Amino acid sequence: MEKIEKIEKAAKAPKPERQTYAVGDRVEKLCVPCQEERGHVVASVTKRGLISRVTCPKCNTRSSFSNGAKLTKGRSKSVNSEPYDRTRTYRTGQTMSHPIWGSGEVTALIEPRKIDVLFADRIRRLIHSRADA
Ligand SMILES: [Zn+2]
Repeated sequence: MEKIEKIEKAAKAPKPERQTYAVGDRVEKLCVPCQEERGHVVASVTKRGLISRVTCPKCNTRSSFSNGAKLTKGRSKSVNSEPYDRTRTYRTGQTMSHPIWGSGEVTALIEPRKIDVLFADRIRRLIHSRADA
């Protein structure tokens, strides 16, 4: 019953470190209409996972994205915001602090009970206004 497998080899396979993106990811970019550097949502990517277009969730301006630009994925300013509460009713622009994803900003009301929230890494759809939860 003695069998030692060489799993160590497989676990140490080197992976090329290349950052790719998906639609819905968050990137920091200067928004000209908003006059501020803020989180944008990736709207489209190339086949190789490079960003081609981004959307500003605040003013809805869609702009092309230069992949040579400095990216700060996963970073967000720490904001003092209330913890996410699904029974609350949120409005666009409100901020929250989620137990898993950290601080987020409401970017859109999808349905009466659903909101899109931009977190540090990507946009996520949450429920809200659920008094019956
Ligand atoms: Zn904007």
